[in-house]
Amino acid sequence: MEAHTSGASRPPGAVPAELFVRTAEIAVKWLDSLDHRPVAASATLDELRSRLGGPLPVGPVDPMMVVEDLARAAEPGLVAMPSGRYFGFVIGGGLPAAVAADWLTSVWDQCPGFYACGPAASVVEEVTGTWLAVLLGLPVEASFAFVTGCQTAHLTGLAAARHHVLDAVGWDVEELGLSGSPPIRVLVGARRHVSVDRALRFLGIGRASLRVVPVDGSGRIQVPRLRQELAGTGTPTIVCAQAGEVNSGAFDDLDDVADAVAGTGAWLHVDGAYGLWVAASPALRHLVRGVERADSWAFDAHKWLNVPYDSGLAFCAHPASHRAAMTATAEYLVQGGPGQPRDAMDWTPAFSRRARGFAVYAALRSLGQQGVADLVERSCAHARTFADGLASVPGCAVLNEVVVNQVLFRFADDRTTDAILRRVVDSGEAWLSGTTVDGRRAIRLSVTNWQTSDNDITRALDAFRTAAAEM
Ligand SMILES: *Cc1c(COP(=O)(O)O)cnc(C)c1O
Repeated sequence: MEAHTSGASRPPGAVPAELFVRTAEIAVKWLDSLDHRPVAASATLDELRSRLGGPLPVGPVDPMMVVEDLARAAEPGLVAMPSGRYFGFVIGGGLPAAVAADWLTSVWDQCPGFYACGPAASVVEEVTGTWLAVLLGLPVEASFAFVTGCQTAHLTGLAAARHHVLDAVGWDVEELGLSGSPPIRVLVGARRHVSVDRALRFLGIGRASLRVVPVDGSGRIQVPRLRQELAGTGTPTIVCAQAGEVNSGAFDDLDDVADAVAGTGAWLHVDGAYGLWVAASPALRHLVRGVERADSWAFDAHKWLNVPYDSGLAFCAHPASHRAAMTATAEYLVQGGPGQPRDAMDWTPAFSRRARGFAVYAALRSLGQQGVADLVERSCAHARTFADGLASVPGCAVLNEVVVNQVLFRFADDRTTDAILRRVVDSGEAWLSGTTVDGRRAIRLSVTNWQTSDNDITRALDAFRTAAAEM
């Protein structure tokens, strides 16, 4: 095709097709290796520093060589996170359609802060936001933001909350900041995720403003205690509830929490990093009953939806407060107003950013509603099979009620628990992480990957049986 510009066309070979095709080969080889390579990285820190380090070259290096060298040098330091036997933290894999769309995102290189910078990126976010609201049972008129992860989603939702609760007492926080403002109280459960505190800290709300509400044995906020806290003063208040505790998978009773908050003027924010996805499953959505009654929600696409890192989402039931907390204008920008196309910058804390909507769109479209439900239900079934299988591992005790995809277990004492975990990880058969529960060491398993199969669970259980037998 001829260029439509004034005659100057790019020289032949300007598009490095060979480089991109070779890169795709390297990528496919990596994905093909996941079933047989050790899950853990094999290189030590020193080895990686020597493989990847050295001075910055003075002159240019051929791009093909850069990519091939990088892939070769990084290889032994890569963890097989997209493998079906990676059970650490709460991670997730990459759905093929999402990974491919993520590649295109880099090639297209759109900056979706403004409609004018990338109309397609902008509309894809608009469409995907609506799909998500419907899929997860959130209000369809809720505003939303595509952000880096759940912590940034907390930052977004809680900034809207801060605006809203202070506005209600006549304080314009965007104009006046927090110095001299009426105090804000934040009621949080004792087993909240640390990212909530961190997001609050970035918003100028420090530890001294937190009121920690006790939780029950599974980590669920005790609603009668929350009611007591809410009964007190007229202080601007934010309540943070949780759908999916990071160790046990416990869900706060969101309907009860929403009842407690109703009529108090407090803002209810929900950390649903991975747990909110159960709303897509008819069999499991009872766990988040009442979730639609919250004021803001934070969750991840890079965990259970299996979109590649990084990808988080913030939703807000009060678009005016959300926008007031986030928007910015400058003379050189091209921005719409009411009735105009959606400018994502009005809703996100970022200015320039990656067009994250494409990969989320591709993940949702490739799975469909049924596929998201299957992914969630299948992960939970694998977690239950794993927990049941642990009964035949000598000395092992499961610590949580396996409500979703998280299993928490330990062996006779801390030393044995840590030693068995280390053996399993060193075997390369599976990767799990440890934690401390009630002052004692434990191992946590999270099934969050579309690729995890029955065979992966069998192999992980065998690895634990072997490690326990060797002790
Ligand atoms: C992972 C997680 C977070 C933090 O999410 P990021 O995407 O890492 O910022 C917050 N809350 C819970 C419950 C989580 O599991």
